Amino acid sequence: MSGLDLHQQDVRDSLSFPWPEPPQPGHTQEVAPGVLWLRMPLPFGLDHINLYLLRHEHGWVVVDTGLNTPQSKQVWESVFAEVFSGAPVLAVIVTHFHYDHSGLFGWLVDRFQCPAYMSFGEYQSMFVVPPKGDEPNWAFSQFYQRCGLSEQEVTEFQPMLSQMSYDIDAPTSFRRLRENDLLKIGNRCWRIVIGSGHSPEHACLYNEDDQLLIAGDQILPRITSSVCVNVSEPEANPLGDWLASLRRFRNLPDSVLVLPAHERPFHGLHHRLGQLQQHHDSHLEALVAALDRPKTVAELRPVLFPRIRGSFDLLMAIGETLAHINFLRDEGVLTRTLDGEAWRFGLSSSGGQTFVATEDIHV
Ligand SMILES: [Zn+2]
Repeated sequence: MSGLDLHQQDVRDSLSFPWPEPPQPGHTQEVAPGVLWLRMPLPFGLDHINLYLLRHEHGWVVVDTGLNTPQSKQVWESVFAEVFSGAPVLAVIVTHFHYDHSGLFGWLVDRFQCPAYMSFGEYQSMFVVPPKGDEPNWAFSQFYQRCGLSEQEVTEFQPMLSQMSYDIDAPTSFRRLRENDLLKIGNRCWRIVIGSGHSPEHACLYNEDDQLLIAGDQILPRITSSVCVNVSEPEANPLGDWLASLRRFRNLPDSVLVLPAHERPFHGLHHRLGQLQQHHDSHLEALVAALDRPKTVAELRPVLFPRIRGSFDLLMAIGETLAHINFLRDEGVLTRTLDGEAWRFGLSSSGGQTFVATEDIHV
């Protein structure tokens, strides 16, 4: 079932998926001349990440690296031998700092002694590590108690975080990617398009001639990228950044083939941007509607995320609920008061009752 069959494209929700099946884990599929889609396994519910390999006359350029595990290294060894046939990696580009993308960044760069490309914000973020040890530190505990979780719930995060912590092998030096930078790779020119909200300064690669967009986690076809506030920046408004990014990505043509980091490549960029915006707008409206009295993040969490399976889900759901709350605070819709250990959020007298979605939806 692999291979492109133009007559039987898989069409769902107005998105079309040219490849009905992904390549087998550890295998590649050519999605454009000289652009290979590598399916790298992950040991999570989300069991894979898509990496992209760009052919160059003297070797290969790699976009994203996989998790820092023996399994990923094994996959890379077989790619070096069987796909690259001994040709070198000339550069490694990493879209953003999350460990499934950047885990083997330094390992690849050191092995081939090649340049490491990343935006400044993502490079810096690789060095911000969650608190280690068995006991949560005071800032971590305080943040989640401010969100309305009990001491017990906060204590349960720590073993989960220790278990989930994968090391990022960060390169010692890097070359900075900025918006609109052009990278010439083989006979293609790729323009850097920066998004924000899922991570601070996420780099995508856009090729105009062949209408290709290597999108990382910035635009995924079915799942929605997490947009979370966490202990490292409690007052942040990543949802504001995310919604602004969705609007800016509309400047790219709808005809691009989107090459995402999870699931499958697809057509239908503008439709997907509209769906993502609608998803967050409906979350914002649901939060406002739920505020019949001032509530904590933990009390509001089930409005957006009614089903939680375990501590990791709870951590992400709290972070994403707070992202929506902080957005509404920045818009002047909500106010925050401290009630004991926890913040309570209520409708402000001016903006709350009249809140409407930020922009018309065009889908
Ligand atoms: Zn990510």
